[in-house]
Amino acid sequence: MDELLAIGEFAARSGLSAKVLRSYAAAGLLVPAAVDPWSGYRYYAPGQLPEARLIRLLRQAGIPVGEIAAFLREPRPEQLQHWERELDREAAARRRALAEARGALGTLARSPGSPAALAGSPAGQDGGMAMVTLAAGSATDRGRVRESNQDSLLVSPPLFAVADGLGGHRAGDVASQLAIETLRDRFSGPPGTEALATAVAEAGRAVWQRADSDPALEGMGTTLTAVVVLEREGQVRLAVANVGDSRAYLFQHGQLSLLTRDDTVVQALIDAGEIEPERGRTHPQRSLLTRALGMSPVVEADISVPAVTGSARLLLCSDGLTTEADDDQIAAVLAAAERPDDAATALVRLANDNGGSDNITVVVVDIAADPQAQ
Ligand code: MN
Repeated sequence: MDELLAIGEFAARSGLSAKVLRSYAAAGLLVPAAVDPWSGYRYYAPGQLPEARLIRLLRQAGIPVGEIAAFLREPRPEQLQHWERELDREAAARRRALAEARGALGTLARSPGSPAALAGSPAGQDGGMAMVTLAAGSATDRGRVRESNQDSLLVSPPLFAVADGLGGHRAGDVASQLAIETLRDRFSGPPGTEALATAVAEAGRAVWQRADSDPALEGMGTTLTAVVVLEREGQVRLAVANVGDSRAYLFQHGQLSLLTRDDTVVQALIDAGEIEPERGRTHPQRSLLTRALGMSPVVEADISVPAVTGSARLLLCSDGLTTEADDDQIAAVLAAAERPDDAATALVRLANDNGGSDNITVVVVDIAADPQAQ
């Protein structure tokens, strides 16, 4: 028994406690190499250490003991990929639910000081009550051609955003999610253009740094269109930030107006008068971007602050909607849909019905002036 390790030593060297080792043995995992028939003492072979290390890592990843036992009987790398995908799916589902919870929070009955009353609104600064309420809905879809959805979205009243990731394999996915998460985390202080510009700049830096530090993600980038609904002394304004070709629109009185300017080669050609604006939507090079987060260490977003009078419907979308549907079709859906969620779902369906050539992501926000507060 010289070369065998007593359970205490094996525990110390494997990082698994004796108690855990006993429970694993009961499940058929890491069964001791020998058991002293007199003392009941358990001994392990040094050759079992790599397996112990693997089991410890899988447990750290949250894999149930039973699944690990099955895996070790027939270890295949594809199983690890399968677990990774499951993890991604679970995280995505939880993230979606949280995003929806944020939207639902925005639709709660307004009460003074409640976060539902235009969360973070400067209304408190002038002592007044919130005079607008926000209700948001969103939808995102892979479309009918692409193999994965690399768009991401944010519904976190009063901040809303969409991002459309660029880059092969999973890189675009990583870029758009990282931009959205950084935007959400770094948007702080009094809501306004400065807070928005700072958060967008931080998002750009985060994407650049990640792309720069991981060779598998080299060249990744993302668009980002973000809007903050601001209210001050009864006036509503939107802080709109844009990089790339996702868009923000305002829909009011049956009219759809574009709040952003695409950072595309085609838009530059339109501006130069070299092609007709109507041709832009179907131009073969319409998705060639002149600017995106991740393209360079510092990207400054275009920021505008349009005023909103009365109630309105705000739309944020990735180019998967605007390449498949024209303004009239989009306006018709926005006019017909009752709730923001219905509008978002219907717009995704419209894009898919028209071909669904790209990922489609839509955030719809109803900005309702509250007559009782006036
Ligand atoms: Mn796209």
